[in-house]
This record gives sequence, structure tokens and C-alpha cells, in this order.
Amino acid sequence: MAPTTLQNFVGGQWVDSFGTDVSPIVNPATGEVIAQAPRGTEQDVERAVSAAEAALPEWMETTPGERASMLLRLADAVQADATELFRLESSNVGKPRSVGEPEIDAVVDNLRFIAGAARVVEVPGTGEYLRGYTSMVRREPLGVAGLIAPWNYPLMMAVWKVAPALAAGNTCVLKPSRMTPLSMLRFAELAREILPAGVMNIITGDGSRVGNGLVAHPSIRVVSLTGDTATGKAVMATAAQTITRVHLELGGKAPVVVFADANLEAVAEGVKVAGYWNAGQECAAACRILVDELVYDDLIEVLVPAIQSLKVGDAGSYLDADMGPVISAQQRDQVMGYITRSTGTILTGGKTLPGPGFWVEPTLITDVAQTDEIVQREVFGPVVTIQKFSGEEQGLAWANDVNYGLCASAWTSDVGRSLRAARQLRFGTVWLNDHLPLVSEMPWTGMGESGIGRDMSRYVLDDYSQVKHVMASLA
Ligand code: NAD
Repeated sequence: MAPTTLQNFVGGQWVDSFGTDVSPIVNPATGEVIAQAPRGTEQDVERAVSAAEAALPEWMETTPGERASMLLRLADAVQADATELFRLESSNVGKPRSVGEPEIDAVVDNLRFIAGAARVVEVPGTGEYLRGYTSMVRREPLGVAGLIAPWNYPLMMAVWKVAPALAAGNTCVLKPSRMTPLSMLRFAELAREILPAGVMNIITGDGSRVGNGLVAHPSIRVVSLTGDTATGKAVMATAAQTITRVHLELGGKAPVVVFADANLEAVAEGVKVAGYWNAGQECAAACRILVDELVYDDLIEVLVPAIQSLKVGDAGSYLDADMGPVISAQQRDQVMGYITRSTGTILTGGKTLPGPGFWVEPTLITDVAQTDEIVQREVFGPVVTIQKFSGEEQGLAWANDVNYGLCASAWTSDVGRSLRAARQLRFGTVWLNDHLPLVSEMPWTGMGESGIGRDMSRYVLDDYSQVKHVMASLA
């Protein structure tokens, strides 16, 4: 049977693309083509932005409470549809249940949190800051938001954008990754019953055409991208032409700083999960262990067997595995390129696994130097490096010595040292004695080349709104 050809979602309707090009949508665990998605054109971008602009005046009239109630209904709809959403996400990204099911719960939680946060936005008090005048601050939407999502968490990353953009009173056009549109198109079907037409529009296609078309469009007033740092730089340069606000959640190279007084069993368990979660295709992946030389041997002794105990799936068993495939043959080859170019010693893994599908063994590499490509660059696959440091100062200095600044973890039983580490690590999230858990109430944000702006938490609403000072003469 020919795979289904998908449509775009514009103005509350399913519409065909103006173009005829399609991308095959592949299950990376099996290599099967499961659908075809349109490769949108400039005309598709134009039509979707027009629909979002047309919906904006009415949407701006809604109260935070009204918008919150629609987001709560969306959360309920996602929860009721969790089985189908997980099926789509797992078949499009090769996610095992252990990874994909908690994501749907997190999406529901995020929608509910943002719905609540929309109603309690704070501004400075209205008052007379200059004699004879009353000042107040209004918070207003920015306009039409252009939202661009990656392939590693297609539903969750997109909802992290759609929910706050709409909660703050904007309308939006979303572009999923060319490879992974399925779950967000399903989300659109759920939203069709809940959101007014045109408030959320989705166009599938390439970054260079649809993504860049959105960023360059003069009616787009905020662009939010989650993606690679190189893409973030390109988006920022294009957005500069129209002074469009950018919100960028980019790459990471998270250090795991292990001091001599750490609980090494907990470190091994933490890295087993956080180093290989989603096959290491995770911006927060615990991919760069820095361990005090005093306990290096002891850590290796528990870490290698922990990694080797990971159950890696195959085309028939990936749903029940700990680790699934990487997203594509190209990604597999890219990951293998990093491994083969490294002059380090492979302690476990280091090879591909036979197909169908695209598989890389969970890999741990030692004898790497701080300046090595594999230490400095985001591999985005199941590959972790380990380095020995001498003393707290060197451990923290090496942790900070990358261009990225998304997240880090420090492992120690010394409270003072953990607080020193939390203060000195230049990353938007620092975990102490753990690595990876997130909550909707707290911000997710990058420093350095990991981005600009916040996801989740009440801060995200600032990124999708504008403050305006209104000053009235009392004369
Ligand atoms: P990518 O940068 O290749 O693509 C991301 C999105 O940008 C896709 O939809 C793509 O089509 C689009 N795009 C590409 N070029 C564009 C352009 N010139 N203009 C506009 N849009 C363009 O990233 P990816 O491979 O899909 O995702 C993996 C990357 O995302 C990794 O670097 C990862 O660290 C990062 N990521 C970051 C976070 C975070 O929260 N910081 C979360 C998840 C993923």
C-alpha cells in the first residue's frame, strides 16, 4: 500500500501544499517509509502567515482565562489521545516506551502549567512614579510567531513553543522537522475542535525553504527555534533584517563533573540513563564525564557494566528496549564519523548494529583531550566521553571550556562544593547529584552558544510578549 500523503494545517483546515514535492517519513527502527509529507513552498508560508494574521485580532480579544481554558482542553485532548500520539512519535523517531510515554505526560503537564501561568502574569504596580502622572505597564502579544521544531522531541519541543505563544495572545505558524511531522499533525487534528481557525497553523517542509521563509517573513514578529547552533546563527542573521525577536534553544555538550566524594554507583546509574536517553539525541545528554583522577578507576569499574546492561532494541523489539535507533542513516554515519575520527580508547561500544533501521551501540570513550573534537562538539548520538581531572578547579574549568552552555551536573557529597559548582558552572541548568529531570515550573535556557530565551516556567511568557509603558498626566 502506498504511504499516506499528509497535508498542511492552515486556517483550521487540512490543505494540500501548493507544491508537489514530498519527503518520505521513515520509521528509523525499521527503515520503512510510513508516510509522505509535503515539502512546503513560499506560497504555503504566505498562506499560513496570512491565516495567522487574520486570526490575530480576535485572538487578541480573548482574555487570559479564555485562552487558559482552551489550553486546558487541549491538555485533556492530548491525555485522552496519548496512545495514538505515542504510536506516531515512536514510529517516527524509533522511541521505546520508556522514553516516549513519559513525554506525552510531560506535554500534558506543560500545557496545564502554561494555562495557569497565563492568568498570573506579573507587572510592576501601577502608580505615580513621577509627580502628576500615573504609570502602568501593559503586557501585549508580539503578533504572529514563527515556530521551528527539531526532530528529537517533535511533539514536546513544538508544544513548548505553541503553548506559551498562544497563552501570551499570539497566533502562530509552526514548522516541524522535515523528518518528524506526524505527532504535531495529530495535535493539529485535536486542536481543530478547540482553537479558533488560524490561531495555530502547521506547514511541513525543509528548513531552507519553509523555515527560512518564516524567519524572513516581515509579518513574523518572533521566531522561536529549537535546533542546532549553526541553524540558530543562520536564523538570527536572517531575523536581523527585520529586527525580529529570536528565541533560540540550541545545542549542548553537558559535563558530568564527578568529584572524589561522589556516590559512584549513582553516577553510573545517572549516566546510563542520561547519557543514552533517546539514543543520546538529546541536547541535555550527559555526554562528557569529568572525573577526579582519584576515583577514575573506581568509576570505570561500575560505569562500563552499567552501560553494557542497556537493552538496545532492533526493528522488532525497539518498543520495549532502553535504547532505540538514531533518526536516520545520515545521523548514524555522522555519529560514527565522530567515533572513528577520535584517537581515544573505546571502553565499550563504538560500532553500528545491523539493520534494518539505524543503530549505534552505546559507546564510552576515554583517553580524550579537552581540545578533541569529540569533547568540544555535539555528537548527538549514544556516545559519552570520560576525562580525568586533578582538583576541583580544573574539573570546573574543563566543564566550562566549551562553546555550549545548556546544562551540567555536579556529583559530590560535600554541600559546600556542590554549591560552589552550581555557582561556577556557566550553564542554564545545573543538577546536583542527578542529570536530566525537568519540571514545567522551572526555566530551561541556554548560555553561550546554547541559545537565547527561556522555555517552560513563567519566564517563557516574557519571551512571547511585549511590555508597554502607559503614562497618563493627571493634570
Ligand atoms: P536542525 O537545526 O537541523 O533543525 C531544527 C529545525 O530548524 C528543523 O525544523 C529545520 O528544518 C529547521 N531549519 C534548518 N535550517 C533552517 C534555516 N536556515 N532557517 C530556518 N529553519 C531552519 O536541528 P535538528 O537536527 O532537527 O535537532 C537537533 C538539534 O536541536 C541539536 O543541536 C540539539 O541539541 C538541538 N536541541 C536543542 C534543545 C534545547 O532545548 N536547547 C532541545 C532539543 C534539541
